[in-house]
Amino acid sequence: MIRKIAAGEVIERPASVVKELVENSLDAQSKRVHVEIVDGGRQGIRVSDDGHGMGPEDVDVCAERHATSKMRSPTDLFTIDTLGFRGEALASIGAVSRMSLDTRPPDAEQGTQLVVEGGIRRAFGPIARDLGTTIEVRNLFFNTPARRKFLRHVETEARYVTQGIVSLAAAHPDVAFHLTHQDRSSMQLLPGDRGQRAADLLNVQADNLLWVDGETGGVRVQGLISPPSFCRRTRSKQFVVVRRRPVSSTPVQRGVYAGFGGLLPHNQHPIFVLWIDLDPRQLDVNVHPTKREVRFADDRIVREAVETAVRDILQMPETATYSAQTPSATDWRSGSSAAQKDVAGAQSKPPNGDSMTTDEPQQVADRPWEPSATPPVAFDGPEDLQISLDLVAGGELRAEPLSPADGERALAQARQSEKWWQFHDKYILLLVEDGLLVIDQHAAHERVRFEEVLDVLGQEPVSSQSLLMPLTVEVNPVELAVYRQASDQFERLGFDVREFGPSTLLVEGLPPELRSWSNGDLFYELLSTLIDELELRSEAREALAATMACHSSIRAGRRLVGAEIGSLIQRLLRARDPFACPHGRPIIIRLPLTEFDRLFGR
Ligand code: ADP
Ligand code: MG
Repeated sequence: MIRKIAAGEVIERPASVVKELVENSLDAQSKRVHVEIVDGGRQGIRVSDDGHGMGPEDVDVCAERHATSKMRSPTDLFTIDTLGFRGEALASIGAVSRMSLDTRPPDAEQGTQLVVEGGIRRAFGPIARDLGTTIEVRNLFFNTPARRKFLRHVETEARYVTQGIVSLAAAHPDVAFHLTHQDRSSMQLLPGDRGQRAADLLNVQADNLLWVDGETGGVRVQGLISPPSFCRRTRSKQFVVVRRRPVSSTPVQRGVYAGFGGLLPHNQHPIFVLWIDLDPRQLDVNVHPTKREVRFADDRIVREAVETAVRDILQMPETATYSAQTPSATDWRSGSSAAQKDVAGAQSKPPNGDSMTTDEPQQVADRPWEPSATPPVAFDGPEDLQISLDLVAGGELRAEPLSPADGERALAQARQSEKWWQFHDKYILLLVEDGLLVIDQHAAHERVRFEEVLDVLGQEPVSSQSLLMPLTVEVNPVELAVYRQASDQFERLGFDVREFGPSTLLVEGLPPELRSWSNGDLFYELLSTLIDELELRSEAREALAATMACHSSIRAGRRLVGAEIGSLIQRLLRARDPFACPHGRPIIIRLPLTEFDRLFGR
């Protein structure tokens, strides 16, 4: 019983099993790791490696708790370079599955096999096999039905498995990784150097990326990163590796964004793979049970090292002030030629023939600074003009987002309204009986599109418009998994997509309203947004609707003509939930007339 409870903490889903097994393979110095999963890993997982294997004595104890062979002395804790050192993974996995392990080290004539089922040893003995280790895990959680119930859709579990392997692959560029799901290949990564592996994982044409390499205060920062002109709407392609461990790290993240200074367009994220190398005594890897979060002795040094390295490659001035005189984002790309050459050198195998420039021009150079918020001024009576002016700027006005609880009345008034204006190309002001409503045009359109797409997904499949020339979309393993997870829904919307080789999708037909697409980039953008949406909601249907809505919506910064404003308002007022966008941000804010009266002392 104790064993089962403890197992639950480490092993939550097939992806956790795969992660532990692959980590063990990497710790055993493998150069090739092959992962096969059946039914998203729920039915079966097999990890085979060509590592140093185990002799019979080690096999005998390897599935006992605290069976680790990896920690020699207490000081090791600080200089650990192996991924596992607690000696719990095999015991935990064996407790909740039928696990069979066979292995042979180089110095042995024959191998050893061990079979454990629900924590009970079923077999142990010699076996003939090649060098290396194979561990097979079947019927995961067969004896813990509650846990089994929590597992998600096959393709979702497969995506989690893929994501886990991809992170480990980022940390081990010299190791070949192969993943198959239901006998179909889902990932094939050849061994290479850091630059090659990063390019394979980001799967973006080389000249869209910059090779970062810098050292500050004993912290070495290396990797591939996109310039401001090539950013994405999501963070789904950001990888950080600290001393051969895939980690998430706030100081590294902060350093990257600081390195960009004011150059990143709002809501845009760079893509990158960064390796941080430093003295192991500068970190504590054992703070989080799954070891994703790394803790540095000094966050500031790490953040600054990353910031400096990134800024240097972008050739930013020391203090990131941004003005019309600074070269535009496109100039940066051609400007840092030394870096460009480095990338070309690092990446001998460009994985993608297509140019991946984004569909929407990102107007980096035109983007003004966000004004800083004026501190609100306390108001206790109309004293002089200065105070009144401050008030106007200071936001003392009490405005509130409309909510379902109290919004119906305002909506009814809005339906009567005949006066509206767009301002600053992003908001719509609507005059209503007891005040003003402010509508965020992008959020409103997103909500309207979201509901429309959901409706389409609930009906008969839309017939696809065939393209004369199919669009090719190069995808990395995670993107492929995401596509597979939503492929039925894509088809319903009228996408006709076919897998073509291990890293290419062919789009052969599009929904009628999208037939003007001229290249695969837009589909690619959909996939990368979908990755994030799938993290937010469990249903592929909803995630795809949110993705489509986001991509087909009117953006902030677009001037609308009068009729467009009217139609957007009408569609919003007909929506099932006109109060919040698919991501939960408010759509309508009310400025009550009574507030103006109060502020003007009436
Ligand atoms: P830990 O990795 O924390 O030591 P595990 O339960 O993951 O604990 O593994 C127990 C032991 O089994 C490891 O210390 C290692 O000696 C051995 N082992 C597990 N997998 C492999 C493998 N693929 N190749 C060689 N040895 C392995
Ligand atoms: Mg381990």
